[in-house]
Amino acid sequence: MAKSELLLEVRNLKTHFSPRKASYAVDGVDFTVERGKTLGVLGESGCGKSVTGFSILRLVQPPGRIVEGEILYHGLHIGGNGALDLARCSPTSSQMQSIRGGEIAMIFQEARTSLDPVYTVGSQLIEAIQYHQSLHQKQAKAWGVEMLRRVGLPDPEATFNKYPHQLSGGMCQRAMIAIALSCQPKLLIADEPTTALDVTTEAQVLRLIKDLQEELGMSLIFITHNLGVVAEMADEIVVMYLGKVVEQTDVKALFEDAKHPYTQALLRSVPQIGKKSSERLQTVSGSVPHSQNIPAGCPFHPRCPSRMPGLCDRKEPTLLPLSGNRQVRCFLHDEAALKGANVHDANT
Ligand code: SF4
Repeated sequence: MAKSELLLEVRNLKTHFSPRKASYAVDGVDFTVERGKTLGVLGESGCGKSVTGFSILRLVQPPGRIVEGEILYHGLHIGGNGALDLARCSPTSSQMQSIRGGEIAMIFQEARTSLDPVYTVGSQLIEAIQYHQSLHQKQAKAWGVEMLRRVGLPDPEATFNKYPHQLSGGMCQRAMIAIALSCQPKLLIADEPTTALDVTTEAQVLRLIKDLQEELGMSLIFITHNLGVVAEMADEIVVMYLGKVVEQTDVKALFEDAKHPYTQALLRSVPQIGKKSSERLQTVSGSVPHSQNIPAGCPFHPRCPSRMPGLCDRKEPTLLPLSGNRQVRCFLHDEAALKGANVHDANT
């Protein structure tokens, strides 16, 4: 991929919340985001998806901190290789504050808790707009009302003067999107933005994000546990489990031929057209261990139907390149490890 197409490169990102070895929230994550494209980040709760998003914006609260890795942002016109390493920026620096909201914005699952209940939607919009753009109050208000109109809120002038508690959940979500996009960021990080919404409102909000992405030429990191949503939104997908990327591929390949047992288990847990209604949906057995209690060997081995005793519970697999841009972290695709395991098993 040409460097000019890249907007963000995350390399070996490690965000830890405790110095204890087995206490990683994010543990060596790599991915790239292309300009104008959507990267889906998929996994169950507790897999490090949100902490990855917070790390990019340097919003991880202490004791959490980035201990290693690079977050190379290519959206600014600066010297050298043209990238700014956000992992090296101070979270409180003026540079980071201007990137946050101006260049990269984030929207969350719970709009009501992200909006300030004591200020009107309009004053929160004006604050965001004037922080990043030199507009007078009147111009900022006009732009704020225009953003409320663009996100499809009825009577944007009236909504501008309302408090969050006067809006429905779907309207709050739209207002939060309007605030996030008011400065026309180059990258939007959407963290489960439709989880709290009913199905109809979810479809409307997803459509809205896609339309605005096209209109603004924005890149998107879409964090979700929902396979249906990721299928609709993403170009590329990384699947995360316990702080690591376990599979990375384009959306078509993931749904047609998932390689990692965790991805396969996630796919078996969603309804599929053509399956008999009498067939029970499968669940991923067990639950995600706490980040302070990560199993030795392959972190997925206690839940994996394909685990190989003597190998998967002893050694940790690395992320292996397959054909195309695919990568998978599993011994089933590692011929050298499988050979070594046979010799080892034969001797025990
Ligand atoms: Fe399952 Fe072993 Fe692959 Fe881990 S390495 S996903 S336990 S088969």
